[in-house]
Amino acid sequence: MIDPHLNENDLLLRKTIRDFVDRELIPNASKYDLNEKFPHDAINKIAEMGLFRLGIDETFGGVEGTNMHLAIATEEIARGCASTAVIYASHMSLCSKYIELYGDLKQKSLYLPRLVEASTIGALALTEPDAGSDVASIKTLATKVDEGFIINGSKHFITNGQEAGIVIVVASTDPGLGSKGLETFILEAPSEGLTVTPQQGKLGIRASSTCELNFNNVFIPNENRLGKASKGFHMTMQVLDAGRILIAAQSVGIAQMALEISIQYAQQRKAFGNYISEFQAIQNKLADMATEIQAARLLTYRSAALSDYNQPFETEASMAKLYASKVAVESANQAVQIHGGIGYFAPNIAERLYRDAKVTEIYEGTSEIQRILIARSLLSG
Ligand SMILES: Cc1cc2nc3c(=O)[nH]c(=O)nc-3n(C[C@H](O)[C@H](O)[C@H](O)COP(=O)(O)OP(=O)(O)OC[C@H]3O[C@@H](n4cnc5c(N)ncnc54)[C@H](O)[C@@H]3O)c2cc1C
Repeated sequence: MIDPHLNENDLLLRKTIRDFVDRELIPNASKYDLNEKFPHDAINKIAEMGLFRLGIDETFGGVEGTNMHLAIATEEIARGCASTAVIYASHMSLCSKYIELYGDLKQKSLYLPRLVEASTIGALALTEPDAGSDVASIKTLATKVDEGFIINGSKHFITNGQEAGIVIVVASTDPGLGSKGLETFILEAPSEGLTVTPQQGKLGIRASSTCELNFNNVFIPNENRLGKASKGFHMTMQVLDAGRILIAAQSVGIAQMALEISIQYAQQRKAFGNYISEFQAIQNKLADMATEIQAARLLTYRSAALSDYNQPFETEASMAKLYASKVAVESANQAVQIHGGIGYFAPNIAERLYRDAKVTEIYEGTSEIQRILIARSLLSG
């Protein structure tokens, strides 16, 4: 079928990943969730398919790819397993892309080949116990010494923290300078003085690791500072702008699966002598879900396409994330409702989606922060 928004390459990529997801991810996603274990087998297969190479310079082992491709890959993976999707999206958009965008030749040559093979996993350590939305309030200290920096402080909620061999760390050389004092570093893990502690008890995306990182006099050499001095805030905000496209795509994938299982269940469950799909109340839910998912997908595609055409895309990315995350939460809610009591119990997929969806409204900028960004852009012109 022709899709006016996707070209032949996009469609082929989508079909290849969808086949993989149907075959390998959907049958295992509940197990990953229940075991709360990092899905090494799924990540290895995604690496074998070359998806960690997408959009990274060929010189460093990457293959041609656009932000649209990354969005398609993330959506399709999330349709099968939202945990695997956040592992993929964090690795790609918050670590590989950070180094590709701001690394020098030596840094790219050293780190990108390992990241594109996923022989090591990547992470971004930004959030701290006292600084989440308010990034400029970061307190983790980077003290300059002769040959590098000494890092002290702590980060929390870091996706892939447990598995990551390459961590992008954002720290301040002087917390009094706010956003102007931020620097970004590439840290290889494990590292002397770095303690990684998994944070248990997540509502959803339970197969992904989320960790606390404590830095006790961790040394990072000068050559591992990323980009220009004092530009850590600016660079990180740019990385997060593009990262939001992938969280929007993850949200669309979650919502899409909620719709698919709802259609299937409605056509097999009988009540009052009829399939529940014959009740208009259920049909209305399906129609609303399908319409909202398509709108969320188009916003996501639009922000990806704008960034691929080197056009301003930041506001559209915020709109896509704001709307798609809301659609994910609402679609998962309706999927549970359509399933009735069975949808409330694990390992029903609706139950998992309901838990997995919520975080899309929180990470990489909460919905409140997206509204602030959108309004700021509306009022600035
Ligand atoms: C599962 C998970 C994985 C994560 N992965 C990573 C990761 O890999 N790397 C990383 O660095 N971080 C990660 N995070 C952190 C995430 O990005 C933050 O949790 C998020 O940015 C919100 O920050 P906070 O939790 O400190 O909440 P706060 O900033 O304390 O916000 C609390 C509430 O106040 C609201 N609020 C804050 N400021 C304003 C304002 N100005 N106006 C209106 N409302 C406001 C927020 O929207 C929210 O509702 C992850 C979080 C989770 C839950």
